[in-house]
Amino acid sequence: MGGCHSYPSKRKADTSKKRVEFSEISRQKLKNNNIPAIPSLEKPYLRQRYVSECITDMDVKTLSVLPKGMDEAEWLASNTITFFKNINLLSSALSEFCTTRTCPTTRGPGDVTYCWTDDQGKKVRCSAPLYTDYTMSYIQELLTDEQVFPTKAGSAFPRGYLFLVQRIFLYLFRMLAHLYWAHFPDIVRMDLHPHLNTLFAHFVTFGREFELLELAETAPLEDLISALCSQYRY
Ligand SMILES: [Zn+2]
Repeated sequence: MGGCHSYPSKRKADTSKKRVEFSEISRQKLKNNNIPAIPSLEKPYLRQRYVSECITDMDVKTLSVLPKGMDEAEWLASNTITFFKNINLLSSALSEFCTTRTCPTTRGPGDVTYCWTDDQGKKVRCSAPLYTDYTMSYIQELLTDEQVFPTKAGSAFPRGYLFLVQRIFLYLFRMLAHLYWAHFPDIVRMDLHPHLNTLFAHFVTFGREFELLELAETAPLEDLISALCSQYRY
């Protein structure tokens, strides 16, 4: 299986005003409690100044397509592992902001609530940190299961492999969606939004290339996907 991919570095220096920006928004909201929020403020991740920030000039479509001569199952496995590692890293960096107090339920774009499906198939509402724990443990278990993601040369991938990869992509998408919806101001304060944008653009492009993401699931973030599409022309 392939190793970790990293993005060639490309950073724009204009980050000086971001730290004050969200406190300005908060102050405006406090002063104008009776005035409905302006949509662009509700979705700060759509602001052009943030959408335009990424960490690489590389075309994410080129990064996603199956290399000539590569086995597709192997390609899916190596990329799934890398996406998991990168999303886990980003999510861990935000863990101090994502607590049972700030996120008693797991909210996503459009204010949807993501429920975890337990072992009995029952849908359970839980806090975002718990949902993250469930998600990452579930994926980690699959990725380290030799029967599902074989590492020995010549080992076959199991029947139903694609379905499991789709499940992993569903959960990873929700992790990213929660970060955009609930923690974007925290992400900007930490100057991590260029990383998140690049990772998200690559993740969605890869997911679409191999039909790993359902349209119904990605629809609430379609505005962001379109904005990143025109930005990165993928
Ligand atoms: Zn959260």
